[in-house]
Amino acid sequence: MKRISIFGATGSIGQNTLDLVRSRRDEYQVVCLTGSANIAQLAADAVEFDAELAVTADFASYEDLKNALSGTSVKVAAGEAGLDEAAQMPADWVMSAIVGAAGLRPGLIAAKQGTTLALANKESLVCAGQLLLATAQEAGTKILPVDSEHSAVFQALIGEDISAVERIIITASGGAFRDWPMEKLIKATPEQAATHPNWSMGQKITIDSASLFNKALELIETREYFQIDPDLIEAVIHPESMIHALVGFSDGALMAHLGPADMRHAIGFSLNYPDRNHVPVERLDLVALGNLSFRKACEIRHPALRLAREVMAKRGLWGAAFNAAKEKAQERFLKREIGFMDMPSLVEMTLNNLDQTGALNAMPDSLDAVLTLDQIARDVAGSLEL
Ligand code: NDP
Ligand code: MG
Repeated sequence: MKRISIFGATGSIGQNTLDLVRSRRDEYQVVCLTGSANIAQLAADAVEFDAELAVTADFASYEDLKNALSGTSVKVAAGEAGLDEAAQMPADWVMSAIVGAAGLRPGLIAAKQGTTLALANKESLVCAGQLLLATAQEAGTKILPVDSEHSAVFQALIGEDISAVERIIITASGGAFRDWPMEKLIKATPEQAATHPNWSMGQKITIDSASLFNKALELIETREYFQIDPDLIEAVIHPESMIHALVGFSDGALMAHLGPADMRHAIGFSLNYPDRNHVPVERLDLVALGNLSFRKACEIRHPALRLAREVMAKRGLWGAAFNAAKEKAQERFLKREIGFMDMPSLVEMTLNNLDQTGALNAMPDSLDAVLTLDQIARDVAGSLEL
């Protein structure tokens, strides 16, 4: 039996992971499930999957979780200490699917345990890629990317020599507003940004898809995970979301990875790796699909992509600041303090402001260094007037 833990079990990735575990129930022993506000879901899943430990990140919800699980054998914990305990429990496979920078600490602790870390939390690589990879390497932890584009690149690279890679293209659906004119984009509301044409995902990543901040994070994620020259990485708009990524080699071959817009494919790949087992996702019907289309991702319309280039070139703590400023910008957009197109402006202003202090050039060599900068960037992005 494979011992598995899921951080962020109550979220979109977490629930898709549990769905796959449910379909091959006798192969897995669930060690630990974590959530935050959704106590009812966490408790129900902990009981259904007979988890050893259930953790809510929200300390104030500890009593609720304890009550919901009273009379069961599930151990309960809460807050940062609870997440640390979850991350230290021995497991063969750990899904890191907490949303945002909050996923960094548990992922990093799990990486120290010598396990397989299925990484959905792209922010870990954006904020502290070098630290996470070095920690994993030292402990003998294998990190498998779960983001669909990065899983696709990973799969296209199996058996290949990374030095023969000429380019990596990750695709973007274009999000909710891909066909909107600029004048309309400026007035886009949180409700409009929180719907996605192709994928069903958590709210944060859905809004990030509309602004292409998600693709900006993914460019940085590609650079960090595959350790590849940023000039070789490109994002292309592909409205059908069928090709997730392409890898170009020195002989001119371009290997594309196709699959349905269903995260259970990439999750299933990481769960089964290095084997390929049945995963219950829709099979693509190419004839029914008819055509696949592509267009340039415009950096004027989507300044997040231009900012990502700067972050990839400068590295250091630029990724941590970029992500924190982006998270704060989305928070302010959701509160209607700033407009949709103000988000990239706020992130750029925050980066410029912090660059003047020299704070961004240090290396992300400890969790403390990354989290301190993360807080500073949030404070700056929270205080700047547009
Ligand atoms: P969701 O918002 O659906 O779920 C987030 C999970 O994190 C929930 O379990 C939530 O608990 C928990 N959580 C929220 N805040 C905190 C916190 N402060 N501390 C600890 N746990 C917390 O997110 P998604 O599943 O969409 O995304 C998860 C990660 O996977 C993100 O990094 C995202 O970028 C990445 N990803 C997601 C994809 C998708 O298809 N959804 C695709 C590719 C990558 P609760 O709900 O109980 O409050
Ligand atoms: Mg993705």
